[in-house]
Amino acid sequence: MDNGHSSARKLVKLQEQEEPPGRGCPAASLVSLLHPSKKHHTKTGAERKAQERQKRTRALVKVSKRTREFMGQFYQEISLAEWTDWRWQLHNSIRTAESLERFITLSDDERKALSRKRSSLPMRITPYYLSLLDPLNPAQALRRAVVPTCAEFLQNPGEKRDPLAEDSHSPVPGLVHRYPDRVLFLATTSCLVCCRYCTRSRAVGNPAEYKLNMAQWEKALAYIEAHNEVRDVLLSGGDPLELPDESLEWLLARLHRIKHVEIVRFGTKAPAVMPQRITTSLTRILKRFHPLWMSLHFTHPEEITSEVAEACERLADAGIPLGSQTVLLQGINDNVETLKQLFTGLLKIRVRPYYLYQCDPILGSAHFRTPVEKGLEIIAGLRGHTTGYAVPSFVIDAPEGGGKIPLLPEYVTGREGSDLLLRNYEGKEFRYPDLACLPARKE
Ligand code: SF4
Repeated sequence: MDNGHSSARKLVKLQEQEEPPGRGCPAASLVSLLHPSKKHHTKTGAERKAQERQKRTRALVKVSKRTREFMGQFYQEISLAEWTDWRWQLHNSIRTAESLERFITLSDDERKALSRKRSSLPMRITPYYLSLLDPLNPAQALRRAVVPTCAEFLQNPGEKRDPLAEDSHSPVPGLVHRYPDRVLFLATTSCLVCCRYCTRSRAVGNPAEYKLNMAQWEKALAYIEAHNEVRDVLLSGGDPLELPDESLEWLLARLHRIKHVEIVRFGTKAPAVMPQRITTSLTRILKRFHPLWMSLHFTHPEEITSEVAEACERLADAGIPLGSQTVLLQGINDNVETLKQLFTGLLKIRVRPYYLYQCDPILGSAHFRTPVEKGLEIIAGLRGHTTGYAVPSFVIDAPEGGGKIPLLPEYVTGREGSDLLLRNYEGKEFRYPDLACLPARKE
């Protein structure tokens, strides 16, 4: 009898064995899109099959003008069906200096960083995300977030390989149990892009050391089954949406069967860096396992494109509440205007800004980290100045596994008698008669 394990093994194998997708239907190719007068040739069997699959697994419909221009410049031979196929995006990710140089002019610093043999984190950029990078400006926010520079090889006091001490809060490999009623389930070490400031850079792209295979999944599931207090499982990695649908479906079904697991959450950057991943077949699967929540990693307003809007709309329409997580990064998003644009833009695509993180002190992160004061200044510049929903909680994930600690600008300025002295967003002073300090009433 198949207890699910052998089929699950096959499913995990899928991610290792995925074949490069076949050529898509030329009728939808960019060439014919740009030159509509060109006649289509009769479809082959393989092309018809690809088209049928496309229909069943409806890929994104919207392709922005910017993407079309980028494809016209660099991917003329690629059909829109291929471009919007997430597996094509995955298999054609940019991982080397040579391939990156086909698209952007590398600075001396970037080239030097890419030529250095040992970096804790490999480079990986999807063709879609590459289309958002400025080919000439190494200081562009999105480019700095994903293209290595030499600064990441400099180590500073206080920096650590595992600053949040996740490994030491790991009862079984691939599972972090730090808070009383919830666990972090590291489903994979692979990511769709490698963010240069990644807290988990020690594990991302390091499958040799962090072997997250089916045997580990089973151990992690057994741990959850044995711990009744775990009511919330956060699937993260790496990026769990890097896994094939079949693996996700299997994992969600297993978690769903554990009675005390009340909710499952995903931590993912897929909608921002590979919106093509949000297919209708994925949302069909996700919908079956409610209550499901998602935290989407966004960095900068330039990530909000029409493709991303469509991906988020699909997730929201599938009934998944969407929150965002953003790391505060020096020279990338560390000012009120940029973050206001990001957070109000996220509300428009139905994502509620949830956390703004102080950047964790991983090795080689000094060039990304801001003084804590900067985050407080930004929150003060947002709170009251824009919709409350657009103001996330600013938190420090405390080193050594202390958990998230929220930080707020000073709104309470003191006490006078029973009055609490408060300052509002415009800097005006107010008094509130605090019941706790009033003299007891005589009957
Ligand atoms: S998406 Fe998250 S886990 Fe993946 S590299 Fe970026 S920060 Fe790390």
